[in-house]
Amino acid sequence: MKALVYHGPGKKIWEEKPKPTIKEQTDAVVKILKTTICGTDLHIMKGDLPEVTDGRIIGHEGVGIIDEVGSAVSNFKKGDHVIISCITSCGKCEYCKKAMYSHCEKGGWILGYLIDGCQAEYVRIPYADNSLYPIPAGADEEALVMLSDILPTGFECGVLNGKVSPGDTIAIVGSGPIGMAALLTSQFYSPANIIMIDQDDNRLAVSKTFGATHTINSAKEDAVEKIMSLTNGKGVDTAIEAVGATATFELCEEIVAAGGHIANIGVHGKSVTLHMETLWSRNITITTRLVDASTTPMLFKTVQSGKLEPKKLITHHFKLDEIVKAYDTFGNAAKEKALKVILTS
Ligand SMILES: [Zn+2]
Ligand SMILES: [Zn+2]
Repeated sequence: MKALVYHGPGKKIWEEKPKPTIKEQTDAVVKILKTTICGTDLHIMKGDLPEVTDGRIIGHEGVGIIDEVGSAVSNFKKGDHVIISCITSCGKCEYCKKAMYSHCEKGGWILGYLIDGCQAEYVRIPYADNSLYPIPAGADEEALVMLSDILPTGFECGVLNGKVSPGDTIAIVGSGPIGMAALLTSQFYSPANIIMIDQDDNRLAVSKTFGATHTINSAKEDAVEKIMSLTNGKGVDTAIEAVGATATFELCEEIVAAGGHIANIGVHGKSVTLHMETLWSRNITITTRLVDASTTPMLFKTVQSGKLEPKKLITHHFKLDEIVKAYDTFGNAAKEKALKVILTS
């Protein structure tokens, strides 16, 4: 089969690899129908995640059709259409029993990271019963690719941890796909004001069509000043960090209201300063989290009913074998006006 293979920082090749086989009886092999590229994959390609070794097939999002199952898989059979979760869960360990699948002792986030992933014609999914979700006939499979990672991530790490509530004023720092997923799913809770902050005017304009009430281009305006003027000097009830940079996290510290929440989603490679000299008395909470994907079945229902329209996040389409070109487009997101790219086999 063909797959996108990481060969060290900056080196990726669409090349021939052996088709995966069942290793454990709890595995399934899935033929990829649609997959996508994540911001995390760009970090891997830059060499930011040194755990990813030469020869690894990357990618952790997609939908497909079951090609083969091990004898211990009971929920799925050959021919079933499935959503692949970015989180692998054994369903049996202490963390899985707490629904903290992200820290599964035998899984968690391993796909396209510690084991071969989805940017390929076929992928082996361990613990298939717990790590795949069924797709009913007639569902829009392209929209469901957004359920592999970005929707549960934006919702669980941003909206749920940030305790977004009716009437709140929230700020989402970063309007990439994850920030947009937080924007879409925050509206389950009817916040009164949703302020999107980014340095890309196109993404900010798009966020307005997705429900943002205010936008701030932090490269052109003083974000703190503008937020204080929008909130009578109080700040926001929830500040969602969807970038993973020192400046954006510290911005959240400056704009959070007394009693508010800072919900971090971003993957941080560097330390940030925690300004306890101003925050110690402010009754705030700060949360961090890796997505558990425990809300995927719930989010699936909202997509099926049309309440949530994740298809809006898709800006570009490619054939799976054009993936190197798709990386160029996604890697130049501002110039290309890209959010999510879909690759179809
Ligand atoms: Zn992802
Ligand atoms: Zn587990």
